[in-house]
Amino acid sequence: MNSLTWMDVALEQAERSLKAGEVPVGCLFVYNNEVIATGSNTVNETRNATRHAEINCIDQVLNFCNEKDLNYKEVFCDVDVIVTVEPCIMCTSALFQLQVRNIIYGCANDRFGGCSSVFEVPKIYNSKTKIVGGIKNDEAMALLKEFYKGTNPNAPESKVKKSRKNKDINTKNV
Ligand SMILES: [Zn+2]
Repeated sequence: MNSLTWMDVALEQAERSLKAGEVPVGCLFVYNNEVIATGSNTVNETRNATRHAEINCIDQVLNFCNEKDLNYKEVFCDVDVIVTVEPCIMCTSALFQLQVRNIIYGCANDRFGGCSSVFEVPKIYNSKTKIVGGIKNDEAMALLKEFYKGTNPNAPESKVKKSRKNKDINTKNV
């Protein structure tokens, strides 16, 4: 399977996440052409702000390595991460420390992106990890927009709305 096909699977995951009231991010870790971890955000479910899709997948790979008696360091070096949204700074750092082979993402993450949007995590790590973004960008973005448009009770207020509100306040003060 190629990255476009994998991304379709990750997008299905993101859709399920949207229905569950979580930020719609879907993630797969592929090793030897086999999916060894699938994850979505479980931040609301667990009330734990670090339970991002990628971190959930990392835990699954560690379990996989334990069960198969494999060296996790070696396994991660051959893992391709397919994720619908650019990983945040925390997750990009984790993936670079584990030296995954490729990070293939859908749309950019303008609020927290650690690959290039907000901060360039790759610059501070000595890893051969390659990054490709923009795969099925529109589909991934459409799911995020669906979430942030406010139909979801768990959705935080969007940056745009906040800045508009601030502008209103500023105008009144002036
Ligand atoms: Zn993250």
